[in-house]
Amino acid sequence: MINKVAVIGAGTMGNGIAHVFALYKFQVVLVDISDSQLENALNNISRNLDRMLSKDRISPDDKVQTLLNITTSSDLSHAVQDVDLVIEAVSEQENIKKKVFQQLGDHCSDDCIIASNTSSISITKLSSYISFPERVIGMHFMNPVPVMKLIEVIEGHRTDARVTKTIMDLGKKLQKQPVVVQDYPGFISNRVLMPTINEAIWALHEGVGTKEAIDSIMKLGMAHPMGPIELADFIGLDVCLSILNVLYTGFGNPKYAPCPLLVNMVNAGLLGKKSGEGFYRYT
Ligand code: NAD
Repeated sequence: MINKVAVIGAGTMGNGIAHVFALYKFQVVLVDISDSQLENALNNISRNLDRMLSKDRISPDDKVQTLLNITTSSDLSHAVQDVDLVIEAVSEQENIKKKVFQQLGDHCSDDCIIASNTSSISITKLSSYISFPERVIGMHFMNPVPVMKLIEVIEGHRTDARVTKTIMDLGKKLQKQPVVVQDYPGFISNRVLMPTINEAIWALHEGVGTKEAIDSIMKLGMAHPMGPIELADFIGLDVCLSILNVLYTGFGNPKYAPCPLLVNMVNAGLLGKKSGEGFYRYT
């Protein structure tokens, strides 16, 4: 039975994950090494709850209760001691996640489940940093977490089927739609999405169409809410590049090789929306 949850990492994803768990009445402790990130996260959650309130999706009391369900901590080892579930949402760097997993292994209780929100690092690899790999699973939320319905649930090579069942039931309690996949590079979401984005960048690179033409074709013709070039800017071109490299090295297949234009953009510091300029300009 999951009642208390620790969310490790209070960035873009961590604050959205904490928001959703707290809204559905779980006790949440949000953990980060940075106090200012924790403060920003609480402010973001409050603003996002206000937006839901203005659309009548929650009541004023829901907002108060949700905020009361969240505490913050910068002391991971203490914060995770009495939780039933940890969602790891720290920066997408394996060395950082490895250290967090080692700490979790030392301080979590004997029946705690550890879920990672990683977009591209192997769940099986992460579970090897802990002495109970059967209780490690992927819980890949989508951005923005309070809005997007999908949770891609990734079974590592040694994940216990009972843990998968617990996480699937939990996903439904969060009013999400959990879908199970196996642990191979890019899982399903990025294995399908990233080659689409890469192909769109190749088409731009080869002059087959302008970025506007490519995005319009995918929006108008395929009913995608965003075109692939626009979406790449939104995700972050550095993130797209690193996921393509995971696919490329993970499968050893040249079809995943990142387009040189994408590599150039990242080297030039044009990372998309977050840096103010990617394929498009943002003011
Ligand atoms: P982010 O950079 O916004 O936030 C990461 C947070 O982790 C920061 O606040 C940082 O201070 C904190 N952190 C770093 N080391 C830590 C440690 N040792 N202990 C505690 N906190 C620590 O990153 P994000 O975009 O929220 O991504 C987090 C995870 O979610 C990554 O694994 C990423 O791949 C995945 N993800 C991201 C998206 C997205 O659209 N941003 C979507 C799906 C999944």
